[in-house]
Amino acid sequence: MNMASQQTLLQPEGRVLSTLESDGSRRWLYPRLSTGRYWQARRIVAYALIAIFTLLPYISINGKPAVLLDVLHRRFTLFGYTFLPTDTALLAVFMLMTLLGIFAITAVLGRAWCGWACPQTVYMEYLFRPIERLVLGRAGVGGKPKDIPGWRAFIVFVLSLLACLYLAHTFLAYFVGVAQLRIWVTQSPFEHPAAFMVMAVVTGLMVFDFLYFREQTCIIACPYGRLQSVLLDKSSLIVSYDTNRGEPRGKIHKSLPVVEKQGDCIDCDMCVQVCPTGIDIRAGLQVECISCTQCADACDAVMDKIGRPRGLVRYTSQAALAGERTRIIRPRVVIYAVMVLGLMTFLGILLATKSPADVTLLRQTGSPFLVRPTGQVENIIVVKIANRMDQTQEYTIALVDQPKLSLEATDRVVRLAPGQLFQEPVHVLAPRAVFDDGEYAITVRVTTPDGHKVDRPFRMLGPLGVPAAAGKGQP
Ligand code: SF4
Ligand code: SF4
Repeated sequence: MNMASQQTLLQPEGRVLSTLESDGSRRWLYPRLSTGRYWQARRIVAYALIAIFTLLPYISINGKPAVLLDVLHRRFTLFGYTFLPTDTALLAVFMLMTLLGIFAITAVLGRAWCGWACPQTVYMEYLFRPIERLVLGRAGVGGKPKDIPGWRAFIVFVLSLLACLYLAHTFLAYFVGVAQLRIWVTQSPFEHPAAFMVMAVVTGLMVFDFLYFREQTCIIACPYGRLQSVLLDKSSLIVSYDTNRGEPRGKIHKSLPVVEKQGDCIDCDMCVQVCPTGIDIRAGLQVECISCTQCADACDAVMDKIGRPRGLVRYTSQAALAGERTRIIRPRVVIYAVMVLGLMTFLGILLATKSPADVTLLRQTGSPFLVRPTGQVENIIVVKIANRMDQTQEYTIALVDQPKLSLEATDRVVRLAPGQLFQEPVHVLAPRAVFDDGEYAITVRVTTPDGHKVDRPFRMLGPLGVPAAAGKGQP
């Protein structure tokens, strides 16, 4: 770009993005810590969540892990219930219900998830930043660190790497179970190179995220963050600056006449210095705001110092700031709640009436029937049984109320592991006399020892009219 064209470009009035310098390079953020009441409450929640995240893979419910997302075998265990590959509909309803529940919570509480419970925020603010502040001696200090000895930075890296290793191992325990993880950890990487590679990649991604990418995950990478922003409305809870009270902002001048009295904001910039996404809450609701409440804590501390009431930056709603009533019960909240309740009921019905097996009958390809030398007509039916229960199950294949018919199968009683599929041909023999117009309706029943039955109708084919000679028949 030549000088002339550079001069014609308009310079932005302020920073275009909170993490972008005017020359296009990344603006690194070093937020100051404000240990106010919200931070204290969030810390309790954060450490409780870290404890739950760490312990959950070790907890068993009904003899199963509380959470095990076994992607390899397509079996998801959630709080004692195992979703099998045959439970796609159940899992879809469960996921939809969870999603709508999140929509409802977001509509009422805004981005509470981001600020209080998201693993990115929890680990960044209550594990990785504390490590840095402790080792670099920067508790309560913001801004770019200067003259940090290399050995301190190295210790930060080593401790962060150890934290990422812990996180990666715990994370993988959710997918492979603690027993498998224990084997991997105690054996040489050469005995399970693929697992070792997975572990190394996950650890590497976490190092990248928590040591380099940081707030960019929330600002540009997280789709849920974007989604939440469009789920808010005027009555949703947000962290906001009270313009009516704060403006006109300015440094404290006690000598100002009453008529010129300034607002409560003393333009100290503390709310900006503590913000982990680098924004100024006074500019209004922004997509980068993760509702972490650090600006509210920082401003409360300032208000305490200057003897003004707390809450210049606080949890509120756009409606409240505009002098309107904040309505918790509103159409979108009611619609979400009704949909969640409807799906919960539907899921309950699906679970209560869940069949112990998926049974499918298929006609064997080739000849539709065979007339045996004995005169009996034979149809070959391919029986498919998928175990939908989360324990090994025994299934018996039989015909319903057909004393004159017989069923020949290699396995009339089959034993299937959870999710396992059985597929075998069975031979059904019927006297020729039962065929009316070349067809005869039967029912194949699959039963379990505890009395569950799955009935499937089948239309047997046989010869038309005049007795056929032994051999292959015609449809
Ligand atoms: S911390 Fe409060 S007083 Fe200071 S600049 Fe921010 S809003 Fe104004
Ligand atoms: S503006 Fe306030 S609540 Fe939003 S991310 Fe920044 S510090 Fe957190």
